[in-house]
Amino acid sequence: MSELRPCPGCETPSATKLDPYSRDEWHVATCDTCTLTYLRNPVAYEALEEDFAWEKTYVEKKKTGGSTGLSPAIRKLRQQFGLTHKGKHAKMGAWFNNGKVLDIGCGSHQNIPEPMIPYGIELSRALHAEADAHMRARGGYCVHGAGAEAVWDFEAEMFDGVLMHSYLEHEIDLMGILKGVFRALKPGGAVYVRVPNFGSINRHVIGPKWCGFRYPDHVTYFTYATLRDTVRRAGFTTHLVNRIGLPVDDNIKVLLRKPQMAA
Ligand SMILES: [Zn+2]
Repeated sequence: MSELRPCPGCETPSATKLDPYSRDEWHVATCDTCTLTYLRNPVAYEALEEDFAWEKTYVEKKKTGGSTGLSPAIRKLRQQFGLTHKGKHAKMGAWFNNGKVLDIGCGSHQNIPEPMIPYGIELSRALHAEADAHMRARGGYCVHGAGAEAVWDFEAEMFDGVLMHSYLEHEIDLMGILKGVFRALKPGGAVYVRVPNFGSINRHVIGPKWCGFRYPDHVTYFTYATLRDTVRRAGFTTHLVNRIGLPVDDNIKVLLRKPQMAA
């Protein structure tokens, strides 16, 4: 039996177990101090890389249907507040000053459009090799490793932007990655974060079958309030991107900013 870790956000040792969400040996609990919900017994990076590599569980999830449980009406409502691909790219360019952008947990894909220069961090060996080839062809590169460690390999104040798309909920060293990203970012730089929305109506209605639960890959379950509080501890300000649709959205989309003058 592995030890139960303290809160990854505020270090409080005590937390209240959420029985309906603690499947098999996995212990999901809410911090007694800051109310962050997290997996108390995550597995080590090495095991994640080989046994629980997220691309494998993602494929399994897809095979089993992975239904979001959203009604067509809610789906339509969500699409109204979404952006087209082109619009998204233009927005990203504006957020990131069309400069150097680090994609953490980048997978094999090219998420950073021209003219931005793409950099990445990827834990899976196979995906890293593919991403690195893409990124080098465009003036950047990809580091193989765990995000919270690899982020310190980059120069301080190197990036205009950082992308954490479906990444932060996987990271065991939560404050480590946030502090590392803060350091790697230029003053005034931005971070786009997308994580499952533990505060969504869907999670409340569907309960344990909600699409945001993934054992043991997801190690933190954020609401907007707990996400905002956690990133503030690393020095960031926040701006909620999907403000209007948030309650019916299974994801939280937030833009973090490093203040121009670091405190
Ligand atoms: Zn806490």
